[in-house]
Amino acid sequence: MRALRLTAWGEPPAPAEVERPVPRGGEILVRVEATGLCHSDLHVMGAVPGALPYRLPFTLGHEVAGRIAALGPDADVRVGDRVVLYGPWGCGACDRCAAGRDNYCDRRDTLTWHGAGLGRDGGMAEYVLVPSARHLVPIDGLSADQAAPLSDAGLTSYHAVAGLRHALGEDTTTVVIGVGGLGHLAVQILRATTGSRVLAVDVREDALALAERSGADFGTLVRADTARVLRARTGGAGVDAVLDFVGTTQTLELAVGILRPGGELAVVGSGGGRLTVYKPGVLPPGFRLSLPFWGTRPELAEVVALAGSGAIHVETERFPLSAAPEAIDRLRRGRVRGRAVLVPD
Ligand code: NAD
Ligand code: ZN
Ligand code: ZN
Repeated sequence: MRALRLTAWGEPPAPAEVERPVPRGGEILVRVEATGLCHSDLHVMGAVPGALPYRLPFTLGHEVAGRIAALGPDADVRVGDRVVLYGPWGCGACDRCAAGRDNYCDRRDTLTWHGAGLGRDGGMAEYVLVPSARHLVPIDGLSADQAAPLSDAGLTSYHAVAGLRHALGEDTTTVVIGVGGLGHLAVQILRATTGSRVLAVDVREDALALAERSGADFGTLVRADTARVLRARTGGAGVDAVLDFVGTTQTLELAVGILRPGGELAVVGSGGGRLTVYKPGVLPPGFRLSLPFWGTRPELAEVVALAGSGAIHVETERFPLSAAPEAIDRLRRGRVRGRAVLVPD
């Protein structure tokens, strides 16, 4: 079968012909219908040797939806069912994994993978081998190109918002920085599950247009006076929460410059920026910081239900798997609107 494999750090992934896996034990073979392309894929392929614990080569693709094609003798699911993969794969044995919280597996530091397409063969292929049924969530009639991005862009945004929800009642304001694959779903999830109004920030006009279509009240480009513009929208008090889907020093500084006392910052983007914590200092009193990573399996089921109810919709651009290099290039140049989705051809 065709697969897009990462074979060397710092190089683009290469198309390859590999054996179709045969499921054993409790394993499940899923025929891939769609796989989302995430900005993290760019971070992974661009990583310097040693930065990530993954062994090469492996097939990329951590946002996967498809149809169950074959089962190992111990797998208790049905061939033909349509599913989305719960992508973070932990050790499978610790308390966290047992509770469907593989994203915070206690043995993460000892594993040579973080999930499907992240050190283990993922979904940029015709088939993907899933180690256990606990990594599958049914999608019923949801289309594959809607379902696949829910497993990371949707789930990570949902998990990040869940961590802030206690602070986001009526008459609160949340700023979303970076309205790409994750950010445009975060805007919709904030609108669907909190009372907060949403302000959006990006470096692209078309991303701001997408933010508005996603339910944001206001959007602004990053400029020298962006902090003042956003503060003015709250009558000067500052915002209740910031979700940063970029994570550079510039966006972290923007975030702490617009939060009101007791404000919350969730850093999702892996931009490598730094924020210095010191007291007394310039950080707002009561400032709270979180670094949410991906999400839990129960949360994935909740995101799928939210999409099934029509409350969230993924803006997608479809590419055949054979055109992955073009999709990767467009994502790198900031030319993808919403999420790029690869479909096996
Ligand atoms: P994306 O490329 O689809 O979207 C990024 C958006 O940010 C784009 O709209 C871009 O124009 C905008 N942007 C870039 N620089 C900006 C700046 N300085 N200020 C404001 N906006 C800016 O990326 P994505 O797939 O949505 O991923 C976003 C980030 O989240 C990436 O760093 C990715 O690695 C990370 N990520 C983290 C997790 C996690 O669990 N923590 C999960 C998935 C992705
Ligand atoms: Zn991702
Ligand atoms: Zn574990």
